[in-house]
Amino acid sequence: MTELASPPVEREQDVKRISHWIGGRIVEGESGRSGPVYNPARGIQTGAVDFATAEEVERAVQTAKQAFPAWRALSLSKRTAIFFRIRELVDQRREEFGRILTAEHGKVLSDAMGEVARGLEVIEYCCGIPELLKGGFSEQASTGIDVYSIRQPLGVAAGITPFNFPAMVPMWMWAPALACGNTFVLKPSEKDPSASLYAAQLLQEAGVPDGVFNVVHGDKVAVDAVLQHPDIAAVSFVGSTPIARYVYEQGTSTGKRVQALGGAKNHMIVLPDADMDMAADAAVSAAYGSAGERCMAISQVVAVGDAGDRLVAAIKQRLPKIKVGDGLEPDVEMGPLVTREHRDKVAAYIDGARDQGADVVADGRESTPDGDGFFLGVSLLDKVTPEMDAYKDEIFGPVLGVTRVGTYNDAVQLVNENPYGNGTAIFTRDGGVARQFQFDVQVGMVGINVPIPVPVAYYSFGGWKNSLFGDTHIYGPEGINFYTRGKVVTSRWPDPATSKVDLGFPQTR
Ligand code: NAD
Repeated sequence: MTELASPPVEREQDVKRISHWIGGRIVEGESGRSGPVYNPARGIQTGAVDFATAEEVERAVQTAKQAFPAWRALSLSKRTAIFFRIRELVDQRREEFGRILTAEHGKVLSDAMGEVARGLEVIEYCCGIPELLKGGFSEQASTGIDVYSIRQPLGVAAGITPFNFPAMVPMWMWAPALACGNTFVLKPSEKDPSASLYAAQLLQEAGVPDGVFNVVHGDKVAVDAVLQHPDIAAVSFVGSTPIARYVYEQGTSTGKRVQALGGAKNHMIVLPDADMDMAADAAVSAAYGSAGERCMAISQVVAVGDAGDRLVAAIKQRLPKIKVGDGLEPDVEMGPLVTREHRDKVAAYIDGARDQGADVVADGRESTPDGDGFFLGVSLLDKVTPEMDAYKDEIFGPVLGVTRVGTYNDAVQLVNENPYGNGTAIFTRDGGVARQFQFDVQVGMVGINVPIPVPVAYYSFGGWKNSLFGDTHIYGPEGINFYTRGKVVTSRWPDPATSKVDLGFPQTR
C-alpha cells in the first residue's frame, strides 16, 4: 500500500470547479470555501467543490419556493409526461452517468451503471404518479354527504445524501418528491458531487421548469442551514448513524418531517444445510462489491454449527479471482475506496482484529495493486467475536468477518442484539426455518438466499433501530406518503329538490 502524505493534485488548470445549481443554471459559490474531489483510482485531486453559506442555501430555498405554485398546479398528465422524458434520458445516458460516478467514487463502471439502473426503477415507479396519488371516496357517508381524501405536496423538500450512491440515493428522494408536486433542494455528498449536477442538467433537458430542482454543495454549514430553514417542509437524509440522528433531531425540532436513514452492520446467517457454493458466491459479491461501501453490504457472516469450515474455505478459494483496479478497466471487479483516509481507516481494522484474537485468513494489504490509487485488496477475518471492534463498527470497506455460533437461535440473537437493523440474509434449504427467521428477526430488509435484499421500487426501503430515524421508509408507497399531506373533504350539496334546474323527473326521493 502506498503511503503518501496527501494526494497529489492534477495540474492546477485541470482541477475542475464544481458549483451550485440554482434556478436552472450553474451558480458559483461565494463563500471562498471548497472541498477537494478525487479520482480515487488515480489518487489525484480532480475537482474542488464549492461549499455553500447559509445565504446561498437561502437563495436556493427561495428559488424552489417561488417555483412551487406553478409546479404544483401543473396537471398530473403534464407532470407524468415530464417523468417519462426523464426516464428516457436517464436510460439513454446511463453510461455517461456511470462514468461520472466511477471517476469520483471509484466503483467499477458496470456497478456504477447498475446504480443508475436501480435509481431509474424509482423514476419509472414515479411515472405512475396519477395512480399513486389517487385518494379514496365514500359516497353518502351520511345522508347527502360525501367524504373523500386527497394528497397534496408539502412545498420545498430537501435531500442530504451520502457518497456511496451519488446518483441512486438522490433519485430515491427527488423522483417521488417532484412527482408529488414538491420542489427540491439537494445537498449531495461533497466527496462525489458531479453526479448531482449531471442529474440537474438531465432534468432541465426533460422539461422540469427552472427552480424546481436545485443543488447546493457543502458541509455542515449547508446542512445546518437546511435543517433550520423555516421554508423547508421535509428533509430526507441518508448517511451515517451519528449524522442521521443529528439531522432527525434538529430537523424535527424545527417542525419538519424527517426521514433519516443511517448506517448498517448487515449479518448473513448461513445454516449447515445451505448450498455452500451459493452462499460463498453471495458472501463474496455482497461483501466486496463496490469495495464494501454499500449500506446493504454483507459485512458479517454468521456460520451456524459445522457450516464455518466449509464456508470459510469456499470464500477463501474465491478471493484470488477478485481483480482490484481502476473501475474503468473492463475486467476489474473492485475499485478503490473513496479517499485515502477512509482506505487507511479500513485497513487498520485488519491489525485490530488480529490483535483482538481473530484469524486473518486474507489480508487485503497483500493484494493491493500498485499505484497512487486508494486501493485495498479484499480481507477475510475468521473467528470474529462480538466484543471485537471489527464486529462492533461499520467498517464500510472490503473486510468480511465470520462469526461462528452453535445454533440458529444464537445467530438470531446476535442479529437482534445489534444496534443496527438495516439488512440481513439467511442461507438455508429449509423453508420452514427461513419463514421463522423472517418472523423473528428485528431488521427492516430480509433476504432469503438473497444477500442484498434491496426492495424493488414498488416497495419501500428502510432499516430498523439505528439504521432509520423517523417512521417512514424511503421511495415506494411510503415515499409518496412522506412527500404528501393528506386532506379529507366532507361535502354536502343542496338537495336537488330545491334546484332551479329542470331535472326532467319528479324531484322527490
Ligand atoms: P456521512 O454521514 O458522513 O455523510 C452524509 C451526508 O451528511 C453528506 O451529505 C455530508 O456532507 C453530511 N455530513 C457529514 N458530516 C456532517 C456533519 N457533521 N453535520 C452535518 N452534515 C454532515 O455519510 P457518508 O460517509 O457520506 O456515507 C456512508 C454512510 O452512509 C454509511 O454509514 C452508510 O451505511 C450510510 N448509508 C446508509 C444507507 C441507508 O439506506 N441506510 C444508504 C447509503 C449509505
